[in-house]
Amino acid sequence: MRVAIIGGGISGIATTSWLMQRNVTVDLYECDEQIGGRIGSELLLNRWVDFGGKNIGKHYNHFRDFASACGDPEFEYFGFNTSQLVNGRIITITKEGARWFNMFRMMSLCGIDGIRKLYPHAKAIIDDRQQGVLGSEYFRKIAERYDHLTLAGYLEKRCLDHIARPVTVRMNGAEPDECYPGNFGSNLALALDSYEQLKHGMHSLLTAFRAMEKKETLTILEGRRVTSISNDSSTGMVRIGYVYEGQPSTAGYDRVISALPALRLAAVLEETLPEAANLLRQIRYFPVAVAIVKYRNEVFGKSRRAMVFDRSFPLSNVGAYGINDLDLVRYTFSGRVSRSTISEHSLPEQVISLGEQIASPYFSIRDNPRDAFTYRYLPEGLCAYSSNHHLLLEKIYLELGRISGFGATGDYRRGASIEACFRAAKECVETLFGEPS
Ligand SMILES: Cc1cc2nc3c(=O)[nH]c(=O)nc-3n(C[C@H](O)[C@H](O)[C@H](O)COP(=O)(O)OP(=O)(O)OC[C@H]3O[C@@H](n4cnc5c(N)ncnc54)[C@H](O)[C@@H]3O)c2cc1C
Repeated sequence: MRVAIIGGGISGIATTSWLMQRNVTVDLYECDEQIGGRIGSELLLNRWVDFGGKNIGKHYNHFRDFASACGDPEFEYFGFNTSQLVNGRIITITKEGARWFNMFRMMSLCGIDGIRKLYPHAKAIIDDRQQGVLGSEYFRKIAERYDHLTLAGYLEKRCLDHIARPVTVRMNGAEPDECYPGNFGSNLALALDSYEQLKHGMHSLLTAFRAMEKKETLTILEGRRVTSISNDSSTGMVRIGYVYEGQPSTAGYDRVISALPALRLAAVLEETLPEAANLLRQIRYFPVAVAIVKYRNEVFGKSRRAMVFDRSFPLSNVGAYGINDLDLVRYTFSGRVSRSTISEHSLPEQVISLGEQIASPYFSIRDNPRDAFTYRYLPEGLCAYSSNHHLLLEKIYLELGRISGFGATGDYRRGASIEACFRAAKECVETLFGEPS
């Protein structure tokens, strides 16, 4: 059986890994010159740093199994440390702090209405972690009841400003009035986890994954942009069209799985399944810009390593790259003001200066020379799903079923976290190939 997977981000890598466990031979198509997508790394002064997904939760079981199979790379504690300005005072919540004190601070940031609404959701997730997955039974019911409202209509201002917005702007690139209660559980589950990161970054994992190519059941085909997917009526196979070095070509497979973000899949299906393409375009993605800057001297103290900013700033979050990397700063720009201030044409230097201007009253940035930096702008960086997302997905999968032997997974299926991408990939493989024997 020949199988093609389209998209070499973590969703494609996860799909490949599930199939390789079944000894299925896979061709992995990636349009860029290297795999990784939004878990990609950049070299900064001889060190690989991750500009995209890097924080790995304690509950990321599928990802951790995959990492073990890739040679057990070392993890380092990342923790949870965040500050924000509330009525002119800096409030810090940190995992290293006293548990009850943190809880008290969280509750005061939530307000009575926020506690009343969010506590049952948090409890449902803590009691059963599966409920924190996008489209879980619990959150489908929430969607059916409340998704006529946005999060901004569902929660009161205090909870929105101090709890919901810092989460949505970071995880979805979106403001609360662009997100829906039914999808908030997948964010809440992440906020209820605690984190580590790979000591040598995602680069080490991608290198280990590449080495699997030697097992001969995997071929990584970089630089190939897939342009179409259709059924070949004469052979019954799934045919993909792709472009390699400017030349169009086609290939036939027994099964094909898309591991593309929804908007990329919409573009590929435009001609063969226009209705599916229309539905996929209802899933929203928002831009994010990330800069990682190495300064000469430490920027953060040990106790305050990150800060979120309110809706009036283009900078959503600034933080130390790692618990011991107090001179390495990650600036994240997302949300509405960021979208009107920063574009793909913005100069990295200018964006970083903007971030420095905003963060410098709180951290040692002024008069601290930059040694080096790396910067990426992702126009479709973060997925914010849609209202009644599970119903939209049902319609999408019905349409996609018109191409037999074809399946689709990605960040829009079970949530955008790395772990959710693994879970979605597993479900997609099980739908197309049956439960493992
Ligand atoms: C700034 C940022 C920080 C994040 N932080 C975290 C975190 O700390 N923890 C966490 O769990 N998650 C995090 N995430 C989320 C997570 O990283 C992403 O949701 C996940 O990496 C998405 O992976 P994917 O494979 O679905 O999509 P992508 O990574 O976008 O992969 C899709 C791939 O398909 C390729 N492609 C596109 N079109 C075609 C085509 N036509 N033909 C062939 N190939 C094509 C692309 O080049 C890309 O490599 C973060 C995301 C961002 C952007």
